[in-house]
Amino acid sequence: MSPANTAAQALGVARAPSPAPPPPPPQYGFGTLAIHAGSDPDPATGAVIPPLSLSTTFKQRAVGDFVYEYSRSNNPNRAHLEAAIAALEHAAHGFAFASGSATTATVLNTLAPGAHVISVNDVYGGTHRYLNKVASSVGVETTFVDLADAASLRDAVRDNTRMVWIETPTNPTLRLVDIAAVAEIAHAAGLFVVVDNTFLSPYFQTPLDLGADVVVHSATKYLNGHSDVIMGVAATNSDALASKIRFLQNAMGAVPSPFDCYQAQRGLKTLHLRMRQHAENAQRVAEFLEAASPVLVDSVIYPGLPSHPQHALAKRQQRGFGGMVSFRINGDTHTADRFLQRTRLFALAESLGGVESLAELPARMTHAGLAPEERAELGITDNLIRLSVGVEDADDLIADLSQALESAVAENSSSSHKYRQAL
Ligand SMILES: *Cc1c(COP(=O)(O)O)cnc(C)c1O
Repeated sequence: MSPANTAAQALGVARAPSPAPPPPPPQYGFGTLAIHAGSDPDPATGAVIPPLSLSTTFKQRAVGDFVYEYSRSNNPNRAHLEAAIAALEHAAHGFAFASGSATTATVLNTLAPGAHVISVNDVYGGTHRYLNKVASSVGVETTFVDLADAASLRDAVRDNTRMVWIETPTNPTLRLVDIAAVAEIAHAAGLFVVVDNTFLSPYFQTPLDLGADVVVHSATKYLNGHSDVIMGVAATNSDALASKIRFLQNAMGAVPSPFDCYQAQRGLKTLHLRMRQHAENAQRVAEFLEAASPVLVDSVIYPGLPSHPQHALAKRQQRGFGGMVSFRINGDTHTADRFLQRTRLFALAESLGGVESLAELPARMTHAGLAPEERAELGITDNLIRLSVGVEDADDLIADLSQALESAVAENSSSSHKYRQAL
C-alpha cells in the first residue's frame, strides 16, 4: 500500500478519482452517522471540524503519488461530504454536484443515445424540462407515466428502456410511488431505478434499502437545510454505476465548491433533529388545516393524515411523513394571493426544506411552466398552496396561518356572505 493510500484511508477518502471505498456498515444510529461520518478530526492539526480547503491543486510527492490531484476531480471537503451522504443513504458510493439539476444531468448522461427512460408523470419541473428538452436532443427519449399503480410500468417498457426515474412524495400534490414494487418490476425487465429523495431525506426514507439503484437529492433543500447552498448529491451501491458517475462528475465538471461542501456538511449534522421537528410541525399544521372550517379550507394533502389516499403506503415505506403540506384555500387565485401576502412567518418564496417556513402558489410559481391541462390533470389548481413547514414553534405557525386564512377569505367576493354567516 502506498503512503498516499494510507493517508487517504486515514482521512476516510479515496485516492482521486477512483470511487470511494465502501463505508463501514451503518452500525451507528442516524444522528451519530450524520455527525461523524466523513468528519474525522483533522490528522494534521487535531481540528475537530475538518478545515475548509480552498486549494485548487495539490503537491504530489512523486509523479502520480497523491491523495488529491486537482479540485474538480476531488478535494477534501467534497470527499468528506460524499462519505457522509453515502453513510446516510446506506450506499457504498456518494457524489456531490453543483446543484440538484447538475446531479440529474450527470446521472442521465450515464445513458447512451437511443436509450429510453420511464419517468413518473409529476416529476420535479426541472427534471421534466431536462428530460423533454435536453436529454431528448441527444437521443434519450422519455415516457411520463402515472405510477400510482406500479404495475403501469410494465406497459411502458420498450426494448430500449434502460432507466426508471421516480420521485416520492411528488411535488406539490404529495403523491406516493411504491419504490419496492417499482424496483421489482424494473429489475425483472433489466432496468435500473433512480429515486429523487429530496422531499423526505434519508432520515425518513432510504430508497436503496427498498431496491432502488441510485438515489439523488437536491441538497439545496433538507440536506443543507438552511437555504444558503445550491447543491445536489447522488448515492449508489453499484460499482459499475458509481464508476460511470465518478467519470462524468469529473468530465462534465458540474461540481460544488469546497465552501459549499463545508456548509452542507455542517447542515447535515443536524438533519435528524430538523427532520423530526419539520414532521412534528407539519403534522400539527395539516391537522389544523383539516379541522378548519370549510369556509376557509377546501382540502388538505399530507401523507401523515389518514385522509391521504396513500397513508398506508406512507406508513409502510417511510419512517416519517416529512415537512411539506399542500392545501386548497376556499377561493380562487386572488384569495390564495392575499393569503400569501398576509402570512407573517411563512415567507412567500419558492424552494423548500430550510429551517424557516415558506409558502408558494405552484400554479403561478414553481409549476407555471406546465400547460393548464397538465396542471389540471395533476390537481394543481389555482387555489392550491404549498407549505414548506419550518422548525419554528408550531403554535406560532398555526396562529400565522389562521390569521392569514381568515383575512384572505373574508374578502372573497362570492363567499364573503357565507363567511360572515359562518362566523
Ligand atoms: C429543487 C429540486 C430539484 C433541483 O435541485 P436544484 O438544487 O434546484 O438544482 C430536483 N428535485 C427536486 C424534488 C427538487 O425539489
